[in-house]
Amino acid sequence: MPRLLIVSNRLPITVRLAEGGAVSVEPSTGGLATGMKGPHERLGGLWIGWPGDLERLPDGARREVDRRLAELRLAGVPLSADEIARYYEGYSNAILWPLFHYSVARLPNEVSGFDTYEQVNARFADEVAARWQPGDLVWIHDYQLMLVPAMLRERVPDARIGFFLHIPFPSSEIFRLLPQRERLLEGLLGADLLGFHTATYLRHFASAALRLVGATTEVDRLRWQGREVRMGVFPMGIDAAHFSALASSPEVEELVASHRREGHQLLLGLDRLDYTKGIQRRLLAFEALLRAHPELTRKVRLVQVAVPSRENVEAYRELREEVDALVGRIHGEFATPDWSPIHYLYRGLSQAEIVALYRATDAVLVTPLRDGMNLVAKEFVAARSDGDGVLVLSEFAGAAAEMTEALLVNPYDVQRTAEVFYQALTLPEEERRTRLALLRERVMTRDVHAWAKDFIARLEQAAAKPASPALSPPGALRQALERARQAERLALLLDYDGTLVPFAATPELAAPDAALLALLRRLASRRGTEVHLVSGRRRATMERWFALLPVGLFAEHGFWGRLPGGGWTAATAAPPLTWREPVLAILREFSDRTPGTLIEEKTAGFAWHYRSADPEYGAAQAKELTLHLRSLIGDLPLEILPGDMVLEVRPRGVNKGLAVAEVRARAAADTLLLAMGDDRTDEDLFAALPAGAIAIHVGPSPSRAELRISGVRAARALLGELLA
Ligand SMILES: [Mg+2]
Repeated sequence: MPRLLIVSNRLPITVRLAEGGAVSVEPSTGGLATGMKGPHERLGGLWIGWPGDLERLPDGARREVDRRLAELRLAGVPLSADEIARYYEGYSNAILWPLFHYSVARLPNEVSGFDTYEQVNARFADEVAARWQPGDLVWIHDYQLMLVPAMLRERVPDARIGFFLHIPFPSSEIFRLLPQRERLLEGLLGADLLGFHTATYLRHFASAALRLVGATTEVDRLRWQGREVRMGVFPMGIDAAHFSALASSPEVEELVASHRREGHQLLLGLDRLDYTKGIQRRLLAFEALLRAHPELTRKVRLVQVAVPSRENVEAYRELREEVDALVGRIHGEFATPDWSPIHYLYRGLSQAEIVALYRATDAVLVTPLRDGMNLVAKEFVAARSDGDGVLVLSEFAGAAAEMTEALLVNPYDVQRTAEVFYQALTLPEEERRTRLALLRERVMTRDVHAWAKDFIARLEQAAAKPASPALSPPGALRQALERARQAERLALLLDYDGTLVPFAATPELAAPDAALLALLRRLASRRGTEVHLVSGRRRATMERWFALLPVGLFAEHGFWGRLPGGGWTAATAAPPLTWREPVLAILREFSDRTPGTLIEEKTAGFAWHYRSADPEYGAAQAKELTLHLRSLIGDLPLEILPGDMVLEVRPRGVNKGLAVAEVRARAAADTLLLAMGDDRTDEDLFAALPAGAIAIHVGPSPSRAELRISGVRAARALLGELLA
């Protein structure tokens, strides 16, 4: 069994200083603490996180805390009050929290605190790296630590890293508002496995990664910097058996009896006091219910528990005042001398008190505006071992993705929510029991222990996947470079786009820069060296850009060739024209309905570029277009070639291999060939090389070339070294 290093903002403990200076370190009981307890005990290893504010503890007490932490296998990352203010209360809770919950209006005009967020994340990464041993699994939790996966990857390249996001991942249109959006995505992409509560969050993340940093996704995995990152859906559960057992304890039974009154119905709201929880709209819906159903006067009561939270953050203080005022108003309008419609508690309750309320209530109202999962819904279901009770659940809680037997509401629709509250109060017993039984079956089996086990098993799998194509070791490259340097005669066959220049939004914009032109000129005048550019581009473009250089040009994947200073010749007869019109008609149709795409007409074929289209829509249209073209082409001697954000249609047999044949036919027999390219069309180039030639693939995609370098910059550097 591998060791497990758990990493979270907060360690699962509470440190208390008693009178007389004695200090106590008590384990806490949050959802995460409960879920991680088993793996933490079973797998050994450590839990790394902030132990809480220990700055004011006297020295002796500090030493006692350290001793207790070591005993519990916890490693503290101490944070100063200023760091907590900027990293935790600031960037995490005043920027990321509202944005990820779609509360865009709550963002401050100036987004600050990222520098501290970054420093604190680096401290966590340092601490994990210092504790890491070969074979360890690392599981990082939540939005406070989104940079840690990549930071740890940098420090420990072969670490096995998982990350779980406990809050929603917003639509990419919302996420992209963040000034540090790319940094956060790149931080997360350092992981081997990224876990989310729902498939929707996973899709939002994949879409953001594609649109903002160009990471292409295949269902549940994406490629990033030559690595594969897996993504998974892991709806978090609760310690269901514990809640179920507690619900039938004598202590709870007694409390339940005290809450129930004959002929009266009870509704329950239980939340951390947070603006994402929809408490105000819930109160308004309750008010609408009382207004629409005067017969409920004296018959129904709402117990609303608001657990104090983040009291140092301004937005939370304002929220508290708003809720107070609303409760007061409704109370003032509806209360009678012997009845209060709302029983409002602003404090935390013991677990037994909470479970007693779950048991006593007729319906629990879980109506957040946005919630990563919401465990109250699951705790309620687990606590109802009596098989009765109604769950009213917001569509915008992650839990709604799996708890479809609840009465689902859109909390923004206050009138309709009021009607659903009424439905909950009047639901026939048989239907209540049927719905709850289905909910219970899932909550009891898909508990927090299963959740943790699943994630850890998937992390082991994800990290065990075969290594993706690695860059060639410096030694191998140096050896090839030395052979090229020593060769009497050397012919370079170089692809252009993606090899010598990065891709531009429009192909016409990828013109060669002065540094590249100078490099090519110097290479071409090097003793015994000839340079050939082998591209899929049209003759006219190649000529405009390179006619003044003493280099060979091959356009349209070798269909056209031109020696330095000479004229263009075709490698084969021009293909029959009969197929051009129908193919062009389909391409035009797809271009018209896919904004941002363009058609490039060539002598021997066509290219359909979709680099500037919406990345998801463009890729889907390219797939669709391929199907259409296939059926049109039938037996014609044509082929469809998918390139990097481009589809090529061209005569079969016209490929970059033609250029190799042409160069070899004219060169001395002992000429060493060195070819470089980045996409599928360059594989024909590599395949046509004679034995002993040097093939270098540029970038992360699969290739038959025996050498691989990272990108355009590395390609130019390598060519530069030939001149050294
Ligand atoms: Mg290319």
